[in-house]
Amino acid sequence: MSKNKSSESVKVVVRCRPLNRREESNGPAGSIVKMDIRLGQVILRNPRATASEPQKTFTFDAVYDANSKQRDLYDESVRPLIDSVLAGFNGTIFAYGQTGTGKTYTMMGAWMDPEKRGVIPNAFDHIFTHISRSQSDRQYLVRASYLEIYLEEVRDLLDPNHGNARALELRENPDSGVYVRDLTSCVCKSIKEIEEVMNVGNQARAVGATDMNEHSSRSHALFLITVECSQPGPDGRKHIRVGRLNLVDLAGSERQAKTGVQGERLKEAAKINLSLSALGNVISALADGRSSHVPYRDSKLTRLLQDSLGGNAKTVMVATLGPSPQHYDETLTTLRYANRAKNIQNQPRVNEDPKDALLREFQMEIARLRAQLHHRKWRSKQKKEQVDGEDWEGDGDEETDGEEEKAVEEYVKLEEQRLEREKQDIREDQFMLADEKQRLLGEKERMMGDLRKEQEATEQLTAKYKAMESKLLVGGKNIMDHTNEQQKMLEMKRHEIAEQSSSEREIQQQMLVQDEETVELRETFTSLQQEVEAKTKKLKKLYAKLQCIKAEIQDVNDEHVRSRQELEQTQNELTRELKFKYLIIENFIPPEEKNKIMSRLNFDTEEDQWKFQPLVPAESKSSQMKKRPASAVGYKRPISQYARVAIAMGPHSRYRAENIMFLELDMTPPNTASLDRSTDSEPNQSPSLDGSPTKEGGVRKSRSWCQTPKSITSSSSNVSLAACHTATPMTAQ
Ligand code: ADP
Ligand code: MG
Repeated sequence: MSKNKSSESVKVVVRCRPLNRREESNGPAGSIVKMDIRLGQVILRNPRATASEPQKTFTFDAVYDANSKQRDLYDESVRPLIDSVLAGFNGTIFAYGQTGTGKTYTMMGAWMDPEKRGVIPNAFDHIFTHISRSQSDRQYLVRASYLEIYLEEVRDLLDPNHGNARALELRENPDSGVYVRDLTSCVCKSIKEIEEVMNVGNQARAVGATDMNEHSSRSHALFLITVECSQPGPDGRKHIRVGRLNLVDLAGSERQAKTGVQGERLKEAAKINLSLSALGNVISALADGRSSHVPYRDSKLTRLLQDSLGGNAKTVMVATLGPSPQHYDETLTTLRYANRAKNIQNQPRVNEDPKDALLREFQMEIARLRAQLHHRKWRSKQKKEQVDGEDWEGDGDEETDGEEEKAVEEYVKLEEQRLEREKQDIREDQFMLADEKQRLLGEKERMMGDLRKEQEATEQLTAKYKAMESKLLVGGKNIMDHTNEQQKMLEMKRHEIAEQSSSEREIQQQMLVQDEETVELRETFTSLQQEVEAKTKKLKKLYAKLQCIKAEIQDVNDEHVRSRQELEQTQNELTRELKFKYLIIENFIPPEEKNKIMSRLNFDTEEDQWKFQPLVPAESKSSQMKKRPASAVGYKRPISQYARVAIAMGPHSRYRAENIMFLELDMTPPNTASLDRSTDSEPNQSPSLDGSPTKEGGVRKSRSWCQTPKSITSSSSNVSLAACHTATPMTAQ
């Protein structure tokens, strides 16, 4: 099957779910999918076709019918892949098919029922059981992440703030390929912990399902497990192998036309299906083998699966089918997809000693903490032995960690007792001065404080060290499991059987192909008549095959036309929208403003979005804001050297740095006097204007409050001020 030693093809298996209750009640049409498990064949019946029309047959690496168990699929098709991941390969399993055909059931399954657990929980069991059974010189680090792609945005399902979180970016690294920046990654020490991670992520996804209109079937979910294993090599040094496992539950692959969406929703649907059509294009380009360009960059999904399709990974595709006659078209499309994917060649290799292995960082950190701890303990021990008057040298290295800890504890206790004793002695000393006593007691107190602080620091360091060490899993720890040899044997036997049946199937398939080719060689004809008969039979067979292929071509053409029509429809909608936007821009936005905006826009290929460049370059902005010109120091505004000299020479207002106008308010206090209306003076003439004295105790308005408009001149203001001054003493009398 493989082209060369290092390349192997994507393994494709097909699974068909049983008819559900609704489909059964629809009528006695029954299933349109028949499976030959022994040969790995799927036979599809067209419910609309005449009886004479031949049925379509597809051959795969394995097929699982409605009666298949979760365990069968796992043992036969998934187990070898997980074993490869544990050996340091990259591995991917993805479920592809129409909504409701059992993708989530296959990947996740019914979580509570051990019989119905899907690929993901079974893989957890497999990985941790393998670690517990491996040799004790191996160290493992297992990490898990969970993300989803919804509307072409990558979202972290383990982020507590999932709903409001920003979409994550994809980045590429020459060593580890495409990865998601800032993705949460949880170190898992047991099956329970990794199950918890899965449940947290599933809940985040389930919340979306209620909030966002059937979200789960519209998003692609990726559960990522990284297994790092450190093992001493023949050269005596520790080597690290990193296996990355992608477990992918894709969104439903049905045509959007079938869901009857239009307008805005159609655009959204186009985006949702963009990933899937991009996946289809990638599969076609890879399977074709002739096209030099593989459009991985067309969608987030294909970028994330870049290594799994045609790269450094072993890949299993599980195509899921529904048996119902209503969904014949989708079932056929799924089978065609799956059939095409069989031809993809991958080049898996063991990831040995990659630069970004976290295990190495952990090991180094543990070694550093260990050395620190050792040093602290050694120092305490040394002090203890000095206190005891013993020689500390000689028995140093032979003590175990436990003994060392005990020695340190003992030292701390003794030291505390000693300090307490000394304090008591000082208190009881009759000949010492009170000041001296206080000083010595204070010193002892300080020493005790230091001792406690040191002990606390050691405890903290020990806790950190232990926490760090506990994250690394060491092989050969699970004694219970070791004693359970029977179970191990059972699993091995199951594994053997699975391997045997798959190789049997492969041989059967090969035999079938060979049969067709060699039948002609074996035939010897005794008479011309016999030869004619045989050749006619063969011709009929070939003719049937030709008809099949013709029908296939017709189907593919129809399919092509249909998808083109759909694309054209979407394109028309988008063009109409674009024209509308253009109309607004051309008619309502001034050209210079438009040009300004255009010059600031640039396209970010990583995020697939247009972005505005900031108006002022970011780095100069802050300095501009903060810096004050040197010439302005001490003045309210920048001022030239010439002006400064001019100010010093004389009070020339031109060069004054300060305000030359005084704008303070003229706050004349109000004067009070009674208004005597019985006087002879004219009623509209203010009594104060002529400066005549008024009667005592009367109310009089201040001049500045009741001036006639005419009197507002600079001189009148002087007059009024003078008048006011003369009036005030009189009112005060
Ligand atoms: P999808 O994820 O493809 O949309 P689901 O996995 O949610 O579909 O499956 C739809 C329904 O069909 C579920 O109720 C599931 O329990 C059931 N189902 C799917 N596959 C099987 C199977 N092989 N055996 C029994 N029930 C199945
Ligand atoms: Mg699903």
